[in-house]
Amino acid sequence: MKMDKLVSLCKRRGIIFQSSEIYGGLNGFWDYGPMGVELKRNIKEAWWLDMVTRHNELKAPEGAPEAYAMTGIDSSIIMHPQVWKCSGHYDLFSDLMIDCRESKRRYRYDQVRGRWVEAKSQRIFVATAAEPDEQEEDTRRRALKFFNLREKHADQLKWDDQSLSLVEVQDSSRVLGPDAKTLGTLTEPRAFNLIFQTHIGALADEQSAAFLRPETAQGIFVNFKNVLSSSRVRVPLGIAQIGKSFRNEITPRNFTFRSREFEQMEIEFFCHPSSSHSWYQYWRDRRMKWYTDLGLASERLRLREHTPEELSHYSVGTADIEYAFPFLAPGEFGELEGIAHRGDFDLRSHMEGKLDPRSRPLQVELGPDGKPKWRGSGKDLTYRDEISGERYTPHVIEPSAGVDRALLAFLCEAYTEDQAPDEGGKLEPRVVLKLHPRIAPLKAAIFPLVKHGGMSGVAREIYAVLKKHFSVSYDEKDSIGRRYRRQDEVGTPYCITVDGQTLEDNTVTIRDRDSLRQWRVKVDDCVEEVRRLAE
Ligand code: ATP
Repeated sequence: MKMDKLVSLCKRRGIIFQSSEIYGGLNGFWDYGPMGVELKRNIKEAWWLDMVTRHNELKAPEGAPEAYAMTGIDSSIIMHPQVWKCSGHYDLFSDLMIDCRESKRRYRYDQVRGRWVEAKSQRIFVATAAEPDEQEEDTRRRALKFFNLREKHADQLKWDDQSLSLVEVQDSSRVLGPDAKTLGTLTEPRAFNLIFQTHIGALADEQSAAFLRPETAQGIFVNFKNVLSSSRVRVPLGIAQIGKSFRNEITPRNFTFRSREFEQMEIEFFCHPSSSHSWYQYWRDRRMKWYTDLGLASERLRLREHTPEELSHYSVGTADIEYAFPFLAPGEFGELEGIAHRGDFDLRSHMEGKLDPRSRPLQVELGPDGKPKWRGSGKDLTYRDEISGERYTPHVIEPSAGVDRALLAFLCEAYTEDQAPDEGGKLEPRVVLKLHPRIAPLKAAIFPLVKHGGMSGVAREIYAVLKKHFSVSYDEKDSIGRRYRRQDEVGTPYCITVDGQTLEDNTVTIRDRDSLRQWRVKVDDCVEEVRRLAE
């Protein structure tokens, strides 16, 4: 599937729009339209129901070491600046970037790729920041221009086979930057902090600086004690949160995959250190299953354990759930969710002061004056087990998912071009979003076969009844075939048609979006039937 087809469907059918489009858009920001907002809410609702509301804390789910509690919070986006100093985001949350002195453009160091090429006795590295499927054409075109060659002399370009990341190129003087005409215009990589800064109150000075959260997780850590003391929950305990996060990404790209404003669904799971490894395994598998249950094909999903070099210094294990997005090169995967074993790093940092992630065992990082570089809250965030009497700092497993990335993966997976018969039985091409009914924006659409003959009155009544339970739509415009197509394009799983027979025996036809199977049910059973099929 070509991404441009999905992007244009999203715009045409009100799923995703560019933010502030009438002013030319804003890079890295997206708006969800009438269909998109339903889809997004359904994904968040499915996550919350499956992880929190429907969790039975009295019984260990399959694969879990024991029964556990689940609860949620909704914390503020702007928090005390000290939160980000102790969490490490203030010092460390950065990506390496490079600037081009000629084009004045900025790039993420690890995202620039390119190839070595030789012509006219000169060997240069042609760098590109284009999307993967456009890189080859981009480098070819720019190499021809650089060497002043015409298309018919393209065979004078002697290319190295392998495409490399700029990170692997030592001699920057021979690099032709992605938007440059001369060599050696790229700066050395520099760290760029991804946190958006703002100010609280009327004075915009150093004292009033505050940050838009780059993750929802810290809101959970700083409320750990509040949750324990205000509800009857005990460790092992998961606290969930869904909310907006902000990262000033250097190069937002690939539709909504890398945005500057996005939503996360995070769980911080607190447990005894001795069982933390089993819990880590449990959450990895549990979260992976959530995606396959909602329709992502297992052959396009993978669970990738981080190598020891990739792990944060304090992390015992981290695995990413990744999806083979169609905008990536074949064989490449993009992260949907990270599941990290974070040990006691976070709770200790908020108690004692920011820990030095390089220290072993972990110790508070000291400033030049020998005092903690960033002071912690000084509050006791340890846990006392009422039964054993043991006091300890819980270890944390963090399944951290992105709502927008999940939504994009569900859309990519669902997008299908196939054929369906029109009214006359002739096969016509159709575009259909085969979304899981649980997350589809509309659960059903109700049509009168024709507007007259009392059919529309009955259809409107059915619509009014269904509307009390589900998100549904009513459509009486155009031929029935066109109405089906409209619903197929936004992934409505069931279409209910009122026809001549309805007026005789009070039954309607239900048509299944994927199998195209049609069957009749009693008008009075419609709510139950849709509930049975779509929930
Ligand atoms: P990446 O390596 O792709 O930048 P990350 O490892 O920094 O991601 P985490 O900090 O682990 O991401 O964030 C958890 C989840 O939040 C990610 O798995 C992803 O689903 C989502 N997420 C992170 N950054 C973005 C972004 N810029 N746009 C959309 N979703 C994001």
